[in-house]
Order: sequence, then C-alpha cells, then structure tokens
Amino acid sequence: MRIPLDGASLDTMTYAGDLGTSPTRLLLLGPQGAGKGTQAQRLAAFTGARHISTGDLIRAEIAAGTRLGRTIKGYNDRGELVPDATVIDMVRPILSEDNWLLDGFPRTLAQAIALDRALGDLGAGLDLVVALEAPDAALIERLSGRRQSEATGKIYHLVSNPPGPDDPGPFIQRDDDRPEHIRRRLELYHAETEPLKEYYAARGLLAHVDALQPIEQVTARILWQMEAHMPARKAAPRAPWAPQPIPLRDEEWRDAVPSAS
Ligand code: AMP
Repeated sequence: MRIPLDGASLDTMTYAGDLGTSPTRLLLLGPQGAGKGTQAQRLAAFTGARHISTGDLIRAEIAAGTRLGRTIKGYNDRGELVPDATVIDMVRPILSEDNWLLDGFPRTLAQAIALDRALGDLGAGLDLVVALEAPDAALIERLSGRRQSEATGKIYHLVSNPPGPDDPGPFIQRDDDRPEHIRRRLELYHAETEPLKEYYAARGLLAHVDALQPIEQVTARILWQMEAHMPARKAAPRAPWAPQPIPLRDEEWRDAVPSAS
C-alpha cells in the first residue's frame, strides 16, 4: 500500500496497511529543530507505537523537582548533553517494551552502544533509523520560533504551525531554544550525534528524510520507509542487527515500489 503524499488525505485517512499490527522499534535521529518531536507524535498516533522522547523525560524530571531533575537542569538549560549514564538509566526500562519510537536517543556513540546491548539482551533488533535532514540556517530559524503548549505538551511554530483554538496554552519558549543556546546544540549534534548515521548506515538500517518538506509529507516519507522495512521483518524475523538493504533516498524508494493496485 502507498501512503498518499497529499497532506490532507494523510491526516484523515484510516491507515490499514502493514504497519497496523506490527510492533515497531524505530529511532528518529536529527538535529534540534528538524521536527523529531512533531513527527514522533504523528507516527505514534498512526502506528500505536509509544513515543519516547528523552528530552521530555528529562524535562518531566526537572519539572517534578526531583533530585535527579535538579542535577540535570543545568545541562538541559544550557543545551548541553546530559551525561550518558543518566540518560541510559532513564531509557533502559522502557526498551523492554516492543512497540516504540525513540526521539532524541541515542545522541552519542556510548548511548548507541548501550542501546545495542539492551536490545541484544532482549534478543530484539531495530526496524529502522530515520535521519531527518536540514541545513543549520533553517534549523536556527525554526528553533527560535518554536513554542510548546504547557496544557497539551504539543509543539508549535509561531509562523509555520501556530496553535489552534483547541489548545489553550500558555505557549512557552524552552530555555534551550533561546538563540544563545541553539548554536551550541547544533555544534553538539554535528560532533556527537551525526556520526551515528554512519553507524546505522553500515547495518543498512538508515533512511534519510528531508525535514524541510511540509510536516505531512515528512510523515508520509517516514511511513514509506517503514513500509519498506517492516514486511521483511514480518515475513522472516531477523537476527538482531542483521543488516537489511534499504533505499537511502525517498526518490529511490518511490521508484522502486510498484504503484498500489
Ligand atoms: P530534546 O527535547 O530532544 O531537544 O532534548 C532537550 C535537552 O535534553 C538536550 O539539549 C539535552 O540537554 C537533553 N537530552 C535529551 N536527550 C538526550 C540524550 N539522549 N543524551 C543527552 N542529553 C539529552
């Protein structure tokens, strides 16, 4: 089945393809501002997979004022990475579930190796790693207009995706979205997280998606990539980490797949 590119129909259609019942283990990699959180929310609604955002887990810990929250608040506010061991401990218990999409984890090689080990212990593997791609200049523009609703947790942009009347707000700018912290977060992404693309590409797990497309089209492209991957998983469960061939570019995938009949 093909997912229509048309944004409106994507929002209203009842999705009944292969993704409906298959558990999903998916990573969303991408720089801050590429739309990982927005896409993860949409994909979770489509697939029923649990959206796990380490950024949200960290902010919840800080908001609750726990000892851990007080320890990590400084890192979060400055846009620095929280220490690996702390984040790994937060995520590990959730990984034993079999239907999730991880947004914002792993962000370092140490985290990726810890994820491998945790999944290896479970005899499980990843289905797909989606890298959302966008140049820094566009990301800086997006991040400085980003607001999060305190009421619903939803993420908006003042210009391109403003809140509707159903969300009462208030709409907060995260400390780490302030201009002085954005550049540092992008630097960290390029230095620490971007190399993970190679790590997963070597296993044939990586798909690139252009994050500058409209929100609905980015979702559709990710779903295409998931469809490309998941039937193989259902037909013949593979050993953890066995490489799977996957087209790297949306265009290649579109060309490779016969039209739905
Ligand atoms: P995010 O909402 O994913 O942009 O994350 C916000 C902030 O939480 C980051 O700037 C880091 O301070 C922290 N954080 C989130 N995920 C991780 C991670 N996997 N490793 C280290 N720090 C993280």
